[in-house]
Parts: sequence; C-alpha cells; structure tokens
Amino acid sequence: MNKEDIVKKNPELNLLLDEPLSHYTFTKTGGPVDVLAFPKTKSEVKQLVDYCRENQVPWLVLGNASNLIVQDGGIRGVVIMLTEMNQISVEGTIVIAEAGAKLIDTTYAALAESLTGFEFACGIPGSIGGAVYMNAGAYGGEIKDVFAEVDLLLSDGTIQTLSNEEMAFSYRHSELQKMEAIVLEARFQLTPGDHEMIKGRMDELTELREAKQPLEYPSCGSVFKRPEGHFTGQLIQEAGLQGLKWGGAQISEKHAGFIVNIDHATATDYTELIAHIQEVIKEKFDVALETEVRIIGEKRS
Ligand code: FAD
Repeated sequence: MNKEDIVKKNPELNLLLDEPLSHYTFTKTGGPVDVLAFPKTKSEVKQLVDYCRENQVPWLVLGNASNLIVQDGGIRGVVIMLTEMNQISVEGTIVIAEAGAKLIDTTYAALAESLTGFEFACGIPGSIGGAVYMNAGAYGGEIKDVFAEVDLLLSDGTIQTLSNEEMAFSYRHSELQKMEAIVLEARFQLTPGDHEMIKGRMDELTELREAKQPLEYPSCGSVFKRPEGHFTGQLIQEAGLQGLKWGGAQISEKHAGFIVNIDHATATDYTELIAHIQEVIKEKFDVALETEVRIIGEKRS
C-alpha cells in the first residue's frame, strides 16, 4: 500500500507507520503493521474504512488486543485500533458504551449506578467491541446475557443495528465473526440492584481471578476454547505439559490454559507451542483443541 498517500489525504487522523504491534498486544509479541490508526470518533472510523475501500487497502479492527497473537511478519494494510473511542454513559437501566471503552470500566460504570448483570465481566481485559465480537464470558455469565443491541459500520460504509437474536451468540461466538463489520457502540440492558451486593460479587471475582491466573506475566488469557466434556487446563496437566517452555513462551505453572511470555517470546514461539499442545492432546486423549485466541497477520519470511 501507499503509506504516504493515506497520511497525505487524512492529515487530521492519528496514524503511525510501520508500528510494531508488540507494543499493544497483551502477549507483547507481533510484527509491524503498515499503518496503525487511532480514530477518536465514529466519523473518523468511517473515513478510514471509506479510504481503504476506495484504494483497495485491506483493513482490520482491533480493540484492546487482549485476545490476539499477531504473527512476527506483522500485518499489511491498515489496523484500526479503537482504544481512543471510549465513552460510556448510563440511561436508566441501559449502559451505552463506545467500542473502544474497556469492558472493565463499563462494569464499574454499571456499579456506580447500582445496576446488576455485568459483574461477571469485571476482570476481562478486553474492549466492548472485542467482547461483543467474542461473546466474552466468565464465572457463569457472558455478553449475550446483558446485550441489547449494537451499531455496526459495514465495509461498504453503511450503518446497521443488530439485536441480541440477530447476533446469534453462542460460546465465544457471535455473528460478527462471519461479517466484515466494526462495532461502533453497544447497548446493554441491566437491572436495578443493591450497590453493596454488586460490589461484593465484583470483589470476590477479582480475588478469584488474581488467585488463579498468572496476571504477573503477559498472556492472551485462555488460549483454547473449552472442549465439550473436558477442561483444557486439566487435559494439559494430565498430558504432563504444564510448565513446558518453548523459546520465551511457557505453559503457565499457575494455570495450564494460559501461555505466558516469560522471556521475550516471539509469536512463532506461541504458535509452535500451541500446535505442539494440540498435537499431544489429540494423540493422548483424541480431543481436538480449538484456539480461542485469534491468530492474525503474516509469518516472518
Ligand atoms: P482484540 O483482542 O483486540 O480482538 C479480538 C477480536 O475481536 C479480533 O478478531 C478483532 O478483529 C475483533 N474486534 C475487536 N474490536 C472490534 C470491533 N470494534 N468491531 C469488530 N470486531 C472487533 N476472555 C473471556 O471471554 N473471558 C475471560 O475471563 C478472559 N480473561 C482474560 C484474562 C487475561 C489475562 C487476558 C489477557 C485475556 C482474557 N480474555 C478473556 C480474552 C479477552 O480479554 C477477550 O476475548 C476480549 O473480549 C477481547 O477483547 P479485545 O478488545 O482485547 O479484542
């Protein structure tokens, strides 16, 4: 792509050229992207998508980059990162959040208004857009349970609003995964509750998370989806893989479902270790582990 052209034609946008995505991903791995854009408004997002469509430039949207492995060769085209589009408001029992708002901040905005339903998400480090895309969930709750509707920008530049039913949520899945669309804003339907009870539950879940997860190291959370009838961490432990190091990556000694970056790991360390785990678990237990983390970009040539 012509990187100078996008800068010249969009002087008001915040664009970085050849920016290493390892500066942003939660795993601290990943190669450079041609153009990294930080739009501040919905109209700036549209401006970027229009430019990409008119100039045949591929684009990809990211939220907080907490569920990603960007390969070491990086990404060609434009990555639109929404972290600067992060307004949250509450109207009655509806919480309205822009796509780049942190899910954690959104749950605290609900707490401030004594609204219940969002407690489950108080420790999930994604953005609203990423959480809706993934149907993020924890401790018995998922986005589907509180989701009212979402405004999407489609790749042809039009806006579409989808309801809960239209999003066809299931375990770590939403209709968005089949579309070329960007979440701009989502609305969540909550219920009036008791402030102390909501806070108590959020504190309890935060303590559980801190006790069980290796939050002291970079990671992308659970690497694999839960296979039907099994627990991933248990399978990995029973296969004798827990603690295995691969380059700078390691299967966490605290939580076998996590791969942590302990010593300057590359994305290749991550993807090779993932492939190794999948092979061993298939061979030993005849279970096919599917990744929950999204692996994107190009391998280093
Ligand atoms: P990203 O990683 O930026 O992107 C993920 C996918 O969403 C990409 O395909 C991207 O293209 C798409 N996407 C992002 N924003 C948009 C948008 N605006 N419009 C359209 N598509 C978009 N997940 C859970 O479900 N439960 C947990 O308990 C949990 N715990 C975690 C703990 C840790 C320590 C870490 C590091 C991760 C954890 N995760 C968990 C994973 C992750 O936080 C969630 O999947 C989260 O929803 C991803 O959001 P994100 O903004 O970081 O998305």
